[in-house]
Parts: sequence; C-alpha cells; structure tokens
Amino acid sequence: MRLLIVEDEKRLAMSLAGGLAAEGFAVDVVHDGLEGLHRAAEGAYDLVVLDIMLPGMNGYRVCAALRAAGHEMPILMLTAKDGEYDEAEGLDTGADDYLTKPFSYVVLVARIRALLRRRGGGSGSPVVTVGSLRMDTAARRVHLGSAEITLTTKEFAVLEQLVLRSGQVVSKADILEHVWDFAYDGDPNIVEVYVSALRRKLGAAAIRTVRGAGYRLEAL
Ligand code: CA
Repeated sequence: MRLLIVEDEKRLAMSLAGGLAAEGFAVDVVHDGLEGLHRAAEGAYDLVVLDIMLPGMNGYRVCAALRAAGHEMPILMLTAKDGEYDEAEGLDTGADDYLTKPFSYVVLVARIRALLRRRGGGSGSPVVTVGSLRMDTAARRVHLGSAEITLTTKEFAVLEQLVLRSGQVVSKADILEHVWDFAYDGDPNIVEVYVSALRRKLGAAAIRTVRGAGYRLEAL
C-alpha cells in the first residue's frame, strides 16, 4: 500500500513517514500543497494524508482539485488545532476523515487502515482469504492452512498486492509502485527477489509468473 503525506511541518512529516514505513507502507512525503496535488494526481496512491494549512495551495483546495479530476483515493485530513478545520467544509471538498493535531500515532494508523479497508469494499473485513491462504491485513498475520507464515514487512506488502487482486495478473511495475516509495531508484528486479522469497515460504506453485505481464496468485 502506497501513501502520500502532504505536510509542511517537516519533523512531523518525517516521523509519520518513518513510522508508517515500519508498518510496511511505501510512503512518499512532500511539504507543499501544489506539489502534493501534482504528486497525488500522477502517482498510484492508495491513500493521501493531507494537512490543511500548507504553502502553495491549502489542503481544502488540493482535496477539491483531486476529486474534481476524478481521483477517488481516500483522503485523511490533518488540522493543527480545533477551529482551524471546519469538518463540514472538509467533508464537502471530498475528504474521507480528519484528525486534529496533536493526534495519537496509534489512532492515525488505525484510521488509515480503516479507510483502506473501506476502500476495498465488501465487508470491510481486514481478513482476506484465497484458497487456504488467509491474510489478516490489520493484525499483519498470514496463515496457510493452520500454519502461520512469518513474513518480513516488504514480503507482506508484496503478497498483499497479489492477494488484493487474486486471480488477476499484477505487473512488476504495479507492485513496485505500491510497495516502494518514489525515492527508490534501484533495480526494478527487486520485485523478483521478494516473489522468490514468498515462493520459498508459501510453496513454488503459489505465485505464477505470467511471461511479459507479471505475477498471479494461485489459490492454494
Ligand atoms: Ca501546516
């Protein structure tokens, strides 16, 4: 899952990014509203964390512009203090949720996960099953039958992309875009390394390579 943080308080932005990266998210950070708008409109983000008082363009306008352009990713707005933020106005511009600073990091992560589950549609359950594979995206645990499979955060994130689109071919570029942040300029074949690791843990038949197209998770 790839997140964009648009927040001009650099220390807060970097600490959020560090914490969310440790949770297995790919996180990009920008400090200016206009740059945030461009980045959010171009990138394949699963969710945007958007401050309201920003240089360049304020968060309300960024949010409204994204919705006007047809972007439907969840947007979680941040506000510095009570009163700065008008909840009705924020929700009017198309934000999905908001948090007032100072907020608890644990609450932020819970809200982000809830928005991502809601976006996934259906029951909003954090547990996804494909055959005998069961992935709990909230507890971050994976079981194959009755056996628990221990994955690193990156392995988990790669598997999550395949599980969320099980039965479909997911391209290497797609996985790269959702799991690694834009600062990653290394070899795109890094995806293969993680797919190999997942095959070792889940069985070689779990992930099929579709030549020239990508990977497909097979029901086990
Ligand atoms: Ca601000």
